[in-house]
Amino acid sequence: MTDPLTQTALVTGASTGIGAVYADRLARRGYDLILVARDTARLDALAERLRAETGRTVTVQRADLTAAADVAAVAATLADDARITLLVNNAGMSITGDLLTTPTADVERLIALNITAPTLLAQAAGKAFVARGAGSIINIASVLALIPEAFDGVYSGTKAYLLNLSQSLAAHYGDKGLYVQAVLPGATRTEIWARSGKDVDSFPPEMVMSVDDLVDAALVGFDARETVTIPPLADAHLPHWEAMQSERGALAGVLSRRDPAARYAGAARA
Ligand code: NAP
Repeated sequence: MTDPLTQTALVTGASTGIGAVYADRLARRGYDLILVARDTARLDALAERLRAETGRTVTVQRADLTAAADVAAVAATLADDARITLLVNNAGMSITGDLLTTPTADVERLIALNITAPTLLAQAAGKAFVARGAGSIINIASVLALIPEAFDGVYSGTKAYLLNLSQSLAAHYGDKGLYVQAVLPGATRTEIWARSGKDVDSFPPEMVMSVDDLVDAALVGFDARETVTIPPLADAHLPHWEAMQSERGALAGVLSRRDPAARYAGAARA
């Protein structure tokens, strides 16, 4: 019989990298798991290891999250399986060039995987969790959400979108039992770099975090119920982030007005 206290986490992009470490840590915390990605050989191997090491129930759902039908199938799992209390929206990709130099099909795939899929999965999970009055969503964004000038605008834009979505969901549903955390990693040593034709070793070593440290730190932020967790942001620089949020808050009530600002006045109408 299923332990009524056992919770299940669904982790996308669990076959390697950040998602695989989340799967490991969550199984050790007592979660049963549903692992989602395309590479079933890797997912099966991880599932077998975690079953043996933790005794948890670990299942695999193969999905290409750039394909609408596969996204719908994972959304259906989130909607139908009441044991699921946590969605880790982790699957993501980068691209080799920028908007002007990347083939259109690759840009479309990036948006499908980094925006459309996590949005629709958060929708399915969020509805189910709010209906039950409890549940959590972790969205893996990136520090590039804050520094668009540092990278190609398409990838960083998808991560800014996830940060925006997370903060909005947290504000609107936080008091209805839904906890949403955006995690903003900096450069982290995973396959995403090689997959997008980039060399993570081109960064100074002190800029690149290990995937184990990244996930362990992000889970400290999860336990603290932070809305935004930035593992590489040193405590000394935290006031900059807090000031940025506070300044943003100060703008909230003054951004929609009948009259254009005085500095834009003066253009004569015909
Ligand atoms: P990774 O090592 O390349 O792993 C990506 C994961 O996503 C894999 O499990 C991959 O599995 C899965 N995935 C890729 N395409 C998919 C598709 N079409 N359908 C389903 N799953 C797919 O990358 P990572 O660094 O762990 O990245 C995880 C998340 O962290 C991403 O959202 C990334 O943007 C974000 N992030 C990473 C860094 C970094 O420096 N590493 C920094 C900031 C944010 P399959 O190939 O088996 O499908």
